[in-house]
Amino acid sequence: MDRLVKIYKVGYFESAHQLRGHEKCGLLHGHSYKYEVWITGIRSGEWNFVIDFHDIKNYFNQFDHSNKVITKSCEDFVVDAVDYFFNLSENIKKVKVRVWETVNSYAEHERIRIKS
Ligand SMILES: [Zn+2]
Repeated sequence: MDRLVKIYKVGYFESAHQLRGHEKCGLLHGHSYKYEVWITGIRSGEWNFVIDFHDIKNYFNQFDHSNKVITKSCEDFVVDAVDYFFNLSENIKKVKVRVWETVNSYAEHERIRIKS
């Protein structure tokens, strides 16, 4: 039987944010985001990893000090992030992503692969 291994990564990025039409977030502003990722899966590949920590970091780094403005809510952002990691491999069985938009506010999403 394949053993499941869970990995965790935490990191930070700075990004511009704008929710057009929103009362408070409608004007261009920025956040110091924090992310936390939990991924459980069956290890595979050259290094026998569930996922390389660098792959997680690289996903979030695309938004760090970039000229991309995040135009989604924190809730939409975590759903996209979970889908990205979940779709990398069938060996990935569970993904949870928590993104802190401020030091006291986060959104979290989780997806689990159910055997059919
Ligand atoms: Zn904002």
